[in-house]
Amino acid sequence: TIGMVAIDAAGNLSGACTTSGLAWKLPGRVGDSPIIGAGLYVDNEVGAASATGVGEAVIRAVGSFLVVELMRQGHSPQQACRLATERVIAKNPNWKDLQVGFIAIDKRGRTGGYCIQPGFDYALYDHENGNRMLPAPSRI
Ligand code: ASP
Repeated sequence: TIGMVAIDAAGNLSGACTTSGLAWKLPGRVGDSPIIGAGLYVDNEVGAASATGVGEAVIRAVGSFLVVELMRQGHSPQQACRLATERVIAKNPNWKDLQVGFIAIDKRGRTGGYCIQPGFDYALYDHENGNRMLPAPSRI
């Protein structure tokens, strides 16, 4: 998945998400990426989030919508990504075999990321620091 979330100089939020799907997927499979609320969700009053990993697990948790709702309740983007990942973990007894990760930005421009398995890096660009690669904290 390539998921992107952004805020502009006026404070407007946006997001985009694309995917090549999963290897050896069933013909006709629809992953989370094209489903608004699962692979991507943007609420210009609150924040934006995108997901990567096993789409079926993200869909069942309505993951990106959940991240944004957690930010609406007052959680930081980082906390919201962690709590949404914990929801995915709680719903999947085989969670140690899954990779699911989220990135998020809120209306104040704060960002975060979290995933189940280590090894999920994401790029962060801002005017002061330019481009950086950040490792998302992981549960495992
Ligand atoms: N989330 C995608 C899917 O399930 C896979 C990916 O991370 O690219 O289709």
